[in-house]
Amino acid sequence: MTNNPWLRTQTQLKKIANKVNLPPLLLSRLLNPDRIITVSLPITLDDGQVKTFTGYRVEHNNILGPYKGGLRYHPHVNMDEVQALAFWMTMKCAVVNIPMGGGKGGITVEPKLLSKKELQTLTTLFTDRLLPILGPTKAVPAPDVNTTPEIMSWIVDEYQKKERENKSSLTKNEMQAVITGKPLTHGGSEGRTEATGLGGYFTLMTALKTLGIQKKNMTVAVQGFGNVGYHIALFLSQKGFRVVAVSDSKEGIYVADGLNPEKTAACKQKTGMLSHCFCVGDVCNLQNGKRISNEELLELPVDILVPAALENVIVAENADRIKAKIILEMANGPITEEADEILSKKGAIVIPDILANSGGVYVSYLEWYQNMKNLRFTKTQVFDKLKLQMEKATKEVFETQKEYKMTHRDSAYIVALKRIQKSSKI
Ligand code: NAD
Repeated sequence: MTNNPWLRTQTQLKKIANKVNLPPLLLSRLLNPDRIITVSLPITLDDGQVKTFTGYRVEHNNILGPYKGGLRYHPHVNMDEVQALAFWMTMKCAVVNIPMGGGKGGITVEPKLLSKKELQTLTTLFTDRLLPILGPTKAVPAPDVNTTPEIMSWIVDEYQKKERENKSSLTKNEMQAVITGKPLTHGGSEGRTEATGLGGYFTLMTALKTLGIQKKNMTVAVQGFGNVGYHIALFLSQKGFRVVAVSDSKEGIYVADGLNPEKTAACKQKTGMLSHCFCVGDVCNLQNGKRISNEELLELPVDILVPAALENVIVAENADRIKAKIILEMANGPITEEADEILSKKGAIVIPDILANSGGVYVSYLEWYQNMKNLRFTKTQVFDKLKLQMEKATKEVFETQKEYKMTHRDSAYIVALKRIQKSSKI
């Protein structure tokens, strides 16, 4: 057993491949990424020093379509992590049923330590290095941890510049389809910012209905308060769930009465610290809550736990102390294999990442589709499509779970592998 996410994906894949009699050649294709790239990224910092960063891009598989998957900027980014994330993208696109394959990329960097100019220089160089493999029908990246719509706009600008210099036959809109999660001004889609969180909300609602759980005022703890964590907290609290805890990389907060995610985010923006922001209703007051650690957040006696930060946060050492009966994996790979087994024995239901957070890639696909077809969907159209797609995918995974009597994670993999096999010529 291992906490190495890449090795973990291999064990998972072999287990399910056996269950669905996947042909050995197809298994071998999925066990190995189609292409892996490491690039060197030297830039001149504002103080005149030169610093070299390392970037990665993994193209895992394109049986279903162009390699789709985000770019992560984080000090812990490494090849094993990027390979695992790329693999999960292949599975995720298959579960949510879009014609896209799986890829992922990233740079080993702490972006908070760079100025905006340095970050833009680094991103532009990374784009240049990846130019030979990027393209709307080849590989289509997107945002991930610490990468924003603005960073996506720098990438699309650089891509368009180089395509024009090379007398590209692509139209402007088609060029914009090279990346998703762009600002609206750069061909982005309405609703992409909220998509992952909202998709997770639709999945959870479908799952609760299927499981016959109708409890009112359910309590929720959300680890991570970035794009995904903030939006899932927002949608859940708007629908009557009591979000009692959230956290960021520094700390967590516990607010027994249920916190207001919008006010909390605005307060954190202003004060820089979540623990200055115990916001209930419209009032942020230090008496409303208490500061907790990320570890404590995970172990709170809540109905629903939502890991929405990084991998490997629920591991063998703490799995037994997790009290939530439902875990909605909005982060990729937050639970290790050993922890999964412990949780399963305890009767906890894990709604797996490749289903729960697939709303992001689904709306990324809609963004790509709008660019390619010269269309513009309204936010309502995007959200309606997202709801339908997440409900369908969730029902399919839960029906498969009933049929195979395996975990929901295993069932999601069964759905994905069957779909990939159907499309492959193997
Ligand atoms: P983000 O950069 O917007 O936010 C990340 C959050 O995690 C921040 O609040 C940060 O402070 C917190 N964090 C970082 N390190 C932490 C730690 N060690 N402990 C606790 N919190 C920590 O990133 P995001 O886009 O919200 O992505 C979060 C997760 O969701 C990642 O696993 C990502 O791969 C996954 N995901 C994102 C999308 C998307 O559309 N952005 C789609 C699918 C999956």
